[in-house]
This record gives sequence, C-alpha cells and structure tokens, in this order.
Amino acid sequence: MEHTKPLPPDLVARYRGWRATRFAENKAWYRHLAEEGQHPRAMVISCCDSRVHVTSIFGADAGEFFIHRNIANLVPPFEIDGDRHGTSAAIEYAVRSLKVAHIIVLGHSNCGGVQACHDMCRGDAPELEASGSFVGRWMDILRPGFERVKGIASDAERIVALEKQCVVVSLENLMSFPMIRDAVAGEMLSLHGIRHDIASGGIETFDGRSGRFEPL
Ligand SMILES: [Zn+2]
Repeated sequence: MEHTKPLPPDLVARYRGWRATRFAENKAWYRHLAEEGQHPRAMVISCCDSRVHVTSIFGADAGEFFIHRNIANLVPPFEIDGDRHGTSAAIEYAVRSLKVAHIIVLGHSNCGGVQACHDMCRGDAPELEASGSFVGRWMDILRPGFERVKGIASDAERIVALEKQCVVVSLENLMSFPMIRDAVAGEMLSLHGIRHDIASGGIETFDGRSGRFEPL
C-alpha cells in the first residue's frame, strides 16, 4: 500500500479545528452515541453529488440520519443473485436492524447521473452502453423512468422530469423488497420522495396520490 499518502495539510487543520470546537462542545452527545449505539429515525438515500448537503438541509446532528449515497440516489429492484448489492445491504440494515421509521429518497437538480442516463437512453453516450461502464450499468435502473418522459419536447423539461422519475423509480423499487412491503403494511415504515433544487434551495415533495411533486 505504498501508494497511500498522509492527509492533505488543509484537511488535517480542518479536522483539528472541528475537534477543538464542535466536538469539544458536544462531547457528552458523542459519548452517548458511542455507548448507546445509533438510533436514527430516518434513512436518507441521496446522490453522491457534493452539492447535496443532506445534514445541512435538515439541520441534522450526528446520529440522526442513516445516510446512503450513490450515483443519482437510485434504489435497484429487489434481486437475489449473489452479486454485491451495496444499496440493498444498506436498506436491509436500516429496516431490519435499525428499524428506521422513514426512508427518504432525496433527488436533486443538475444531477450528472441523470444527465448521463438521459444521454445514454437517447443513444448519445455509447461509452456508457459498454458492459464495462459501472455508471452506465448502474443508470440502467432509471431506463423505465426515461421511457415515461422521452416524449417531452423540451430538453430542459425532459431532464427535470427524469430527475423526478429518479425519485419515483427508487420509491417503486423500494416496494419490491418484501421486508419494506411488510414494514409499510404494518405502519412501521413510511416512504418519502423529495427533489432538492441546488440553486434556489427549494424542496418539492412527491405526492403519491396525484403522482406530482409539490413545493414545500
Ligand atoms: Zn446527482
């Protein structure tokens, strides 16, 4: 492992600053978390995108959210095939072990993953079609969503619609997990879909009855 290097000095300085201030001010809370374990009330499935600041948006402290991030906040369908399913593993742990009361799928504007899926589905990104593209194969999850929006004439509106489909498809796929269907039926778990606009800070929430996103 000779290719590993020490942390960049600016990160070391930031860490020391955190330890001396926010950590020092909340020592008792961190000790409590260490001794009592985590009991987050919600799982959040968000995009890896660095602009999506889940804990800032909800003013959350350590221990409050069980956060899973992947490209374009996608949930794959329930599949038992012996492959390594990181997202499904996180969902299983959140529901079975942590018994979270909520799963929030958090989509966002200007999503590079959604744009990639859009271009791939329109035949404009052959590199993503290759079997060796991890991003392409991952974004295949969203192809059913593209089929629903491909008729929209405006490029910008089609992209926004696909960003919303990214949330909807994930919510649909969550319900393909038997453990989630059971928890929802038993009113132990509720599912939520939201889309965050990076520029305006706005949030729209998905209304399952109307099938539309409404501003919060
Ligand atoms: Zn994204």
